[in-house]
Amino acid sequence: MDIKELYQEIILDHGKNPRNKNKCEGFNKNAKGHNPLCGDKIHVYLKIDKAKNVEDISFEGEGCAISIASASIMTQIIKGKEFNVAKKILEQFLNMLKEGSKLSINSLSDDENMTMMSLSGVKRFPMRVKCATLAWHTFINAAEGQKETVNTEK
Ligand code: ZN
Repeated sequence: MDIKELYQEIILDHGKNPRNKNKCEGFNKNAKGHNPLCGDKIHVYLKIDKAKNVEDISFEGEGCAISIASASIMTQIIKGKEFNVAKKILEQFLNMLKEGSKLSINSLSDDENMTMMSLSGVKRFPMRVKCATLAWHTFINAAEGQKETVNTEK
């Protein structure tokens, strides 16, 4: 199996069996995101403790396979991380999708790296980049207590 097929498998798996797709217990922050071009709608729930660790993260929503897979991957990667680390991961994820740069985050395991890299092929499809980044932008809005819905077209 070549790397492209492996990435495809990871995305399909997360799209079909999304992780953390529920309303996590005791969440203290949440935000919504909408990508009108594709119809993706994501609602992110967060439980951040006083030390700013992401204790729990989950999502609900509906949309294309890429938007759901990316939301699922995000919750898996971000859960248990410090918010500052999570922000750094987000930054690198966006750079990977927009500029094709490589990930270099010390705190990620090889598995986590591979899982995030699976979405790197989306770079070739600008419309799909919005699907893949929706959940991540919504996560930041939730963490920062923004009330407004994230809209990829605004
Ligand atoms: Zn989409």
